[in-house]
Amino acid sequence: MNNKIIVTGGAGFIGANFVLDWIDNCDATVINLDKLTYAGNLENLASLEGNPSHIFVHGDIGDRKLVQQLLVEHRPRAVVNFAAESHVDRSIHGPEDFIQTNVVGTFHLLEEVRAYWNGLDDQERSDFRFLHVSTDEVYGSLGKDDPAFKETNRYEPNSPYSASKAASDHLVRAYHHTYGLPVLTTNCSNNYGPYHFPEKLIPLVIHNALAGKPLPIYGDGQQIRDWLYVKDHCAAIRRVLEAGEVGETYNVGGWNEKPNIEVVQTLCDILDELSPRDDGKSYREQMIFVTDRPGHDRRYAIDATRLERELGWKPAETFETGIRKTVQWYLDHQDWVQHVTSGEYRSWVATNYAER
Ligand code: NAD
Repeated sequence: MNNKIIVTGGAGFIGANFVLDWIDNCDATVINLDKLTYAGNLENLASLEGNPSHIFVHGDIGDRKLVQQLLVEHRPRAVVNFAAESHVDRSIHGPEDFIQTNVVGTFHLLEEVRAYWNGLDDQERSDFRFLHVSTDEVYGSLGKDDPAFKETNRYEPNSPYSASKAASDHLVRAYHHTYGLPVLTTNCSNNYGPYHFPEKLIPLVIHNALAGKPLPIYGDGQQIRDWLYVKDHCAAIRRVLEAGEVGETYNVGGWNEKPNIEVVQTLCDILDELSPRDDGKSYREQMIFVTDRPGHDRRYAIDATRLERELGWKPAETFETGIRKTVQWYLDHQDWVQHVTSGEYRSWVATNYAER
């Protein structure tokens, strides 16, 4: 075993940020296993081209032969599992892929990791970690005055997405209790930042605003989400890998509860300042209210006390600083946005990246 890690789903939004962050901060190779679904974009990792610390492998976490081969070949000291279908709206219209990847895929991955771990010597077995990246949505929805989710909250998932993530969290937990696999689970609030696929609220609003399109707000816009800058999430995962207690779960959040409508208004105000409309009017004029999503959870809020107190992690960004950085990033990377929205990023993979 050596210092290498395997990251799954490392071409997606958080996974790509994590791979970049890991290679910046740790002197260790990342093997990045990603199926490149519509959400996977190797252009996110363009800055690593030719860097021997990043080995990309195109494949499915449910492909047991491939996973086994990677484990045997690279002998990683950790596997960090980001791979998932992640969009709630898509899970409502077509839940099957969510069950296949998030539940069945995680199961296959766990089985292969368990076999690999069983074959290690005692020291290697105790050093190894399987870190499963999950969401606060597994806890269900909070009322206005309920305390924020703690690690001890009951799981009450409400969408096919959150139910599939909850199922995978339970499998991970069971592999520790049943087989002793050294697992860690993180449940994080909504992320935002660079490389976010423009189907999610923040990048969608920035993209639509600049394109002169409507800014859709579900229902009354009063659904509350807790926002965390993606680089803070990456730092939290690094910290949990380093010092988390095996078998435990850690909530990750930025103490930034905001109603969706306020997020959209804030984005409009920053864009008014950084990239004003030609007609001098505010981007707020483009806001429209649309029919709410079925079963839309009203409020999520994460209590990250445990991670802060036990592992000393704290977010570096407030919502105000992180959201400004994010808007600036999208303004500076309009070519990336254009490649994603036009679908061009798919051919970018074929022409720019040598897959193994
Ligand atoms: P994403 O949809 O942007 O990326 C998912 C990545 O996984 C893509 O690159 C995709 O190609 C890959 N993938 C999908 N199915 C695969 C499979 N079967 N095998 C290998 N790769 C596969 O998602 P994200 O927003 O980056 O989220 C990453 C993880 O973090 C997910 O597990 C998600 O549940 C969790 N999470 C996300 C948020 C958030 O706000 N985005 C918050 C908390 C937790």
